[in-house]
Amino acid sequence: MIILTDVDGVLADFIGELCRCALPNHKPEHFTKWKLEENLGKIDMLYAEQAIRSVGFCEGLKMYPGAKAFLAKLRKKGTVIALTACTPTRHWPGERIEWCVKRGFGRNEISLTPGPLKHIVYGDYLIEDRLDTAIQWQDNNPYGQAILIDRPWNQGQTYAVERVHTYREALDAITAT
Ligand SMILES: [Mg+2]
Repeated sequence: MIILTDVDGVLADFIGELCRCALPNHKPEHFTKWKLEENLGKIDMLYAEQAIRSVGFCEGLKMYPGAKAFLAKLRKKGTVIALTACTPTRHWPGERIEWCVKRGFGRNEISLTPGPLKHIVYGDYLIEDRLDTAIQWQDNNPYGQAILIDRPWNQGQTYAVERVHTYREALDAITAT
């Protein structure tokens, strides 16, 4: 079984780190839209971009509580591939690969893939936090199952995508089929 998993918003607390290091007046629950610029004013957006582009931001991202154990349990169910986009900086791809390697992914188990191309990657499951990516992948992988980890920024209709609120629910969704 092939389990594709996104990184930011699924395993890595990207928004939490952004709030901690660049946006002290914001909390993750304030981010109700996927695009950062739809949540932030112009000045805060500049601070956010500066943080995201800085060397070490990506590699320093912390995992969500429970994410390490979740990943270990996923690996008992199948081959887990990190399917992750990168911001357009020179250092982000290398940092993302190192981030994944430190968390047990083999270098051939990491696919750096922009969101709009994720749907062309085959898998039995995709675990994702971006609503439109999950729907697009589901539409193109009718024999697979997209699992959307519920976050403030992905509310809305999920169609055939399964929305889960905890890692436990995600694991159960994978066991069930
Ligand atoms: Mg994501």
